[in-house]
Amino acid sequence: MKLTKSSNLNRLLFDMDIHTYKDVLSLFPYRYENLAYSNENEIKDKQKIVLFGRIMSSIKVINPYKNKKFSILTFDFVSENRKLYHCVIFNRAFYNSSSFKDNEITLIGNYNATKNEINVINIYVGRIPKEKSIKPLYHLIKGYPAYHFSTLVKKAYDIEKDNLYNIVPAYFRRKYQLIDRNEAIYKLHFPTCKEDLRDALKHLKYEEALLFSLKNRLRNSTLSTIIKRKKEPIDIDICHKFLNGLPFKLSSEQYKVAKEIISDMNSDKVMYRLLQGDVGSGKTIVSFLALYANYYRGDTGVLMAPTDSLARQHYYNALKIFEPLNIRVGLLVGDMKKSQRNKMLSDLEDGLIDIVIGTHSLFSKDVKYSSLGLAVIDEQHRFGVNQRKTLMSKGDACDILMMSATPIPRSLALTVYGDLEISTINEFPIEKKKIVTRIVHSYDDVLFRAIDKMLLENRKVYIVAPKIDFSAISDYSIDTLSTLFKAKYGDKVGVLTGRMSSEEKTRVIDEFSQSGTSILLSTLVIEVGIDIKTASLMIIYGADCFGLASLHQLRGRVGRDGYQSYCLLVYDEEDDNVLSRLKVLEKTNDGFEIAEADLQSRGAGELSGLKQAGESDFSFLNLYNDIKIFTLARDDAKEIFEHKEDIKYKWIFEYLKNNID
Ligand code: ADP
Ligand code: MG
Repeated sequence: MKLTKSSNLNRLLFDMDIHTYKDVLSLFPYRYENLAYSNENEIKDKQKIVLFGRIMSSIKVINPYKNKKFSILTFDFVSENRKLYHCVIFNRAFYNSSSFKDNEITLIGNYNATKNEINVINIYVGRIPKEKSIKPLYHLIKGYPAYHFSTLVKKAYDIEKDNLYNIVPAYFRRKYQLIDRNEAIYKLHFPTCKEDLRDALKHLKYEEALLFSLKNRLRNSTLSTIIKRKKEPIDIDICHKFLNGLPFKLSSEQYKVAKEIISDMNSDKVMYRLLQGDVGSGKTIVSFLALYANYYRGDTGVLMAPTDSLARQHYYNALKIFEPLNIRVGLLVGDMKKSQRNKMLSDLEDGLIDIVIGTHSLFSKDVKYSSLGLAVIDEQHRFGVNQRKTLMSKGDACDILMMSATPIPRSLALTVYGDLEISTINEFPIEKKKIVTRIVHSYDDVLFRAIDKMLLENRKVYIVAPKIDFSAISDYSIDTLSTLFKAKYGDKVGVLTGRMSSEEKTRVIDEFSQSGTSILLSTLVIEVGIDIKTASLMIIYGADCFGLASLHQLRGRVGRDGYQSYCLLVYDEEDDNVLSRLKVLEKTNDGFEIAEADLQSRGAGELSGLKQAGESDFSFLNLYNDIKIFTLARDDAKEIFEHKEDIKYKWIFEYLKNNID
């Protein structure tokens, strides 16, 4: 059932890609807040506490930036056990309201024992009943009230509950004592105790692992039945013309992976390979080399990037390299002019283009390739399985090379992804300086001092705002930040948002890369994929909204010319889990170490948030902690696959066919 278009709140839901009641139920909590009251006799320094009581003083407001949104509130609070605490709240002027002042409230915050002070995270009016003490938190777009979403989830559940049938076959549900799926979904959204959550996750994790393993089996069995057209064998030596034209020599690691790729291209099995390497390890040029080899054999090649601006950047790089070799490069992105697009489509069909670079518009229905030999997918994790598959179906047995800067350790990859082949670039082509990284508060002076220093040295600054601001306590929306920085730095600031047309975006990026503006404020995290060598400071607001791997990628946008560069992670709350996660970035610049820490830190409490940020294939599973479930599901999938025709299992394949991603 669809949500109606008329209401303003629903429009916000559409912005979150929620269009139906089913979508509502599929926005899973990313975390649960524990609202059980603390035992005041046992509270320790730095501990998160939940207390019931009253505000006993007036609320004082301090405004260090003369900006209401960046204010500090203080007051005294007396708990029901008559203990007095001093309280501070950062950046939430709206809490200065009488409903909190004159009522009994529940206060949630972090306790500082030396100051006997609470850094307040949240306030509720009244007492929280025991069965509501596990509160699901959703990543909602700014402006959509959380209580309203909770009501909507209830409604969605009532409407959809009969459609939430089990996917895991009965045999396995009994074997692992899983509750029914509809019950699992209910308990995920409305847990009344820890056991509810445990039971819900047990079902949903197993289901996810089983479907994932089945998809892998299906893919592998399809790939193994495809026989590639006989093609002329190639060798890396035929690429000397290409290599001689480059402004640098390939590193030995780039050479190594290029050889692995070319050997796959020679095999009569379809290539399905993942090329992984840290940000800046030089994957692009390796993929260009593969595209060159593919061209050399007379086939068309495509390179697919997750956003228009990334595609454009690849396109301009490719032009520089391929045009002197008389290789025809084309661009196909979402917001091209219709006439341009039509011309590109007919050129492609006629085989007038050798290499085409674009976004997922590369595989819209109307795109036909004359002879597709190789498809490269950059930042593969940002595309769904379905998109990858559609692209494959465009080529007659075309080779697939996926690239990723978020590596998975090999042993894990083997268990989880089956026989996906992996190539890894293990070192940087040029030596990189460590990007000095610090976690800061939004009200720390160091933020502005760092910007001032950069501007003085004629360096460029990126400021990234989260697309969906998860933070309960602060407002890091692009509008707020834009006002703040424009007030201070005037027309040195360029702003890039998703609402802009592609021409506007290009203009803003051009202004920044030339000398018009020195500060680029953007929500479009990966649009920042633009390669600007003089950028030396990266400021990321709401750093907790991003996975470590994303943060590391973002940070890789500065320091590209060897100038000492900095990254400031803005985070105002005091959650120890978040802080220890972010500290990994302060400590190391090694992408592999970070990827590992990222996986490990996604503890039981954290669910789908990162999937929505496009970082993981999984909503419920954790690659590290759930390896046992993966292993069981993999074996069960094998069993099911061997009895594909069995009436017990047949429909699950129907389900997969209709519901892949
Ligand atoms: P990523 O692996 O993150 O996609 P890129 O392919 O964008 O990295 O490469 C990062 C930078 O390194 C680019 O500016 C590229 O031109 C440069 N580069 C790639 N290979 C080499 C090399 N062998 N020697 C010197 N510079 C290189
Ligand atoms: Mg790249």
